[in-house]
Amino acid sequence: MFEKIVIANRGEIGLRILRACNEMGIKTVAVHSSADRDLIHVRLADESVCIGPPASSDSYLNIPAIISAAEVTDAMAIHPGYGFLSENADFAQRVEESGFVFIGPRAETIRLMGDKISAIEAMKAAGIPTIPGSDGPLGDDPKHNLKLARNIGFPVIIKASGGGGGRGMRVVHSDAALSSAINMTRAEARAAFGNDTVYMEKFLDHPRHIEVQILADKHGHALYLFERDCSMQRRHQKVIEEAPAPGITPEQRAQIGELCAKACRDIGYSGAGTFEFLYQDDKFYFIEMNTRLQVEHPVTELITGIDIVQQQIRIAFGEPLSVRQEDLKITGHAIECRINAEDPLTFTPSPGLVTQSHMPAGPGIRVDSHLYNGYRVPPYYDSMIAKIIAHGPDRGSALRRMRGALYELVIDGIKTNADLHRRLVNDAAFVAGGINIHYLEQKLKNMNKE
Ligand code: ADP
Repeated sequence: MFEKIVIANRGEIGLRILRACNEMGIKTVAVHSSADRDLIHVRLADESVCIGPPASSDSYLNIPAIISAAEVTDAMAIHPGYGFLSENADFAQRVEESGFVFIGPRAETIRLMGDKISAIEAMKAAGIPTIPGSDGPLGDDPKHNLKLARNIGFPVIIKASGGGGGRGMRVVHSDAALSSAINMTRAEARAAFGNDTVYMEKFLDHPRHIEVQILADKHGHALYLFERDCSMQRRHQKVIEEAPAPGITPEQRAQIGELCAKACRDIGYSGAGTFEFLYQDDKFYFIEMNTRLQVEHPVTELITGIDIVQQQIRIAFGEPLSVRQEDLKITGHAIECRINAEDPLTFTPSPGLVTQSHMPAGPGIRVDSHLYNGYRVPPYYDSMIAKIIAHGPDRGSALRRMRGALYELVIDGIKTNADLHRRLVNDAAFVAGGINIHYLEQKLKNMNKE
């Protein structure tokens, strides 16, 4: 096994990776910005290296600094976590060229899946169902684009091929709005992603977001760890996730899972990955693949008993998968609430000093968080500060455990979205299961009117 790994991330996921390494007897190097000296995993790691000032562009995105840190500490591999450089093909390539192992898929796979148009093409070829759309980039001929949109049928959505993080998308409802929407999305995409390629898809008006977790090794084996439902979203960002997805039949689950595992074998995928789908009227439609660990991976870990981070490390080292598909089964139900340091009304980040905190515990409760009393949440990074995950024998008991956990939770000194979660886990439609991706936005609008 690797003797030493660089953790190229921060916050709760830095700590999560450290825990996996500790359990496997692997030494750790925490690379961090000058604002993050007080993070738990930085203090607990065997070694730590400050790689730059607070701004992510100078630290967590600073490729030469991270590779130098691996060199000076004599580490063997680099785990990128999620966000930051985790889906940066150039980083993966530089890591490998410098003689280290990148804990993730090959650079060329990241590149293929990082471009949404090429990802959709590759998935279509592998037999994965996709959304009716332009089947490639949009050109500049307004007449042709109009014809495309009419054939697909309004409403359509214009999406940036290089987009991510819920940005670079625009819904169009009529002929008249099409050209300007394409031009605006193009301009935004050029500014935000340095790539103005856009494409068109049918806009689904009541889909759920259902995604399939996969694991694939470097020896041609791939398996699926079932699905998660992440339909509770605000501005295309996930707020609550659960596994399995309510109402999905064992046959549907096996069928879509097998397709994803086969697609992994077709493209020579290795590592952990997620196929994201929209699901509407009993049909799955591929939207994109994430070639990294996901924030919501714990719900899958709890229902399968598989440690996904440890599996990533084993796969990167070259071990063949030790579990077989037929050995995997779903045990109970798990739900995750993302706790953010943010204003509950405006959703703007609320960094600052955590004066007091109490994290819930007890049967079926897992908390992934880097928070402690006296910790100062810095203003420079993502506002997520804790993930509360509840597991129970069935969905009802997982929900009851989550309600109890949120009742116990105390975070003083900064504002959080904990109260929103307390409302959502008691919301009748969520409790019933199967809400669509537009549900939360509508509910928030109604709450504002109250
Ligand atoms: P990103 O890479 O920015 O996360 P995705 O392609 O994964 O972009 O889409 C993010 C979210 O945007 C989806 O979960 C869904 O809420 C919405 N979305 C994307 N494509 C469509 C579509 N064709 N119809 C309706 N909603 C969509």
